[in-house]
Amino acid sequence: MKVAALTEGQAETYDLIVVGAGPAGLSFVRALKGCGLDIAIVEQLPRSILADPPIDGRDIALTHRSEGILRDLEIWPHIPAKEVSFIRHAKVINGGSSYALHFDHRDTGKDYLGPMVANNLIRRAAFAAFQEVAEVELIDGRSVVASGGNEEMAWVTLDNGRRLQAPLLVAADSRFSETRRRFGIAARMRDFGRSCIVCRMDHDEGHGDTAFECFHYGRTLAILPLAGRRSSVVITLPTDDAAEVMALDEEAFNRDIAVRFTQRLGSMGLIGERHIYPLVAVYADRFFGRRFALIGDAAVGMHPVTAHGFNLGLRSAAKLAGEIRAAHAQGADIGAARGLRRYHIAHDRVARPIYLGTNILVGLYTDDRRPARIARNALLHLGNLLHPARHAIMRQLTDKVA
Ligand SMILES: Cc1cc2nc3c(=O)[nH]c(=O)nc-3n(C[C@H](O)[C@H](O)[C@H](O)COP(=O)(O)OP(=O)(O)OC[C@H]3O[C@@H](n4cnc5c(N)ncnc54)[C@H](O)[C@@H]3O)c2cc1C
Repeated sequence: MKVAALTEGQAETYDLIVVGAGPAGLSFVRALKGCGLDIAIVEQLPRSILADPPIDGRDIALTHRSEGILRDLEIWPHIPAKEVSFIRHAKVINGGSSYALHFDHRDTGKDYLGPMVANNLIRRAAFAAFQEVAEVELIDGRSVVASGGNEEMAWVTLDNGRRLQAPLLVAADSRFSETRRRFGIAARMRDFGRSCIVCRMDHDEGHGDTAFECFHYGRTLAILPLAGRRSSVVITLPTDDAAEVMALDEEAFNRDIAVRFTQRLGSMGLIGERHIYPLVAVYADRFFGRRFALIGDAAVGMHPVTAHGFNLGLRSAAKLAGEIRAAHAQGADIGAARGLRRYHIAHDRVARPIYLGTNILVGLYTDDRRPARIARNALLHLGNLLHPARHAIMRQLTDKVA
């Protein structure tokens, strides 16, 4: 409960404080609905942006598990059905070769490998579902500027001087989390020295619900199917070249992408803006500290090539919320180290192989020296021939629960 009358500088007390109302922070709070905890969530963006976030160019490929979590959290119904597209096939192509490693949804026994939803629509839906949580106070338009903790309490100071404290503080404030740093948790960062340009394009030919990952020399091109004759285009390239591609006029850009994609989809045309992101992967040394835990990108920030960032973030949110619910139901301390360590172990077990595997893949497919080119060609052929390997990759792509 909040302290009724506060003297100057005194902290308001909650059961739980969350920093960051991105998709991970909002999903986490939604997962705690009805458990009776008095929660504060602090977000630097204003409520109006959270309610209707602008397009940011990211189309998020979700696993079946994530779709299931979003359904359980009643976030999914807030996503308009016509805005969901489905990946049914995935093809990986190396250089100029026409040979592709092919993944087919029929081999998984599912109707699709995974659904795709624009990031701003996930954020909008998460916020709509979050608003159904009665026991939370949203403190929007405010940044956390200081934080810390002792044996009993964690605390934060906001940019207006307001102070909050709680037995547990959860940081969901992005891969460059300042709160993580203030709690003394180191993170391994890998700067790929590359950037990622994302946009939507329409095209003459149908995509057949196929996602293409083309490892061209010097840059990577991913084309992900959207509803109709539209695709989400993700170009990964050295940061030096990125400015040049961003500056290309629309016609030149359209031509360039169609040619790099060997006209598989015919002529292509840009829809809306191009957006650019730096490629930096982050893995926190620990996902918990004293009265403190990390979720979402603040725990693990992935290279987008394997499309696991939000999928892992959602899993971390669901897992930690489960620990907290169980502790609270037993009348135990929700910020006790034992439960937080259990969360850390479980999430690390899931995330570490995916993180390391993704970084190895990125290394192999962005190395243009001859041995690497030969190795990846061989891997594509082997992948098609070795059914167990292909099925293992597909299991990871879909992250099937059953
Ligand atoms: C190009 C691209 C493509 C991607 N594709 C996929 C994909 O296909 N599949 C997939 O699963 N993932 C994908 N991802 C990853 C996914 O977008 C992220 O994992 C996800 O958005 C992270 O959510 P989050 O809530 O952890 O962090 P964020 O979305 O970064 O949210 C953090 C929030 O914290 C707030 N905040 C930060 N600091 C403070 C502070 N001091 N005080 C108050 N508030 C603060 C911010 O304003 C923000 O709202 C992709 C990412 C990129 C860049």
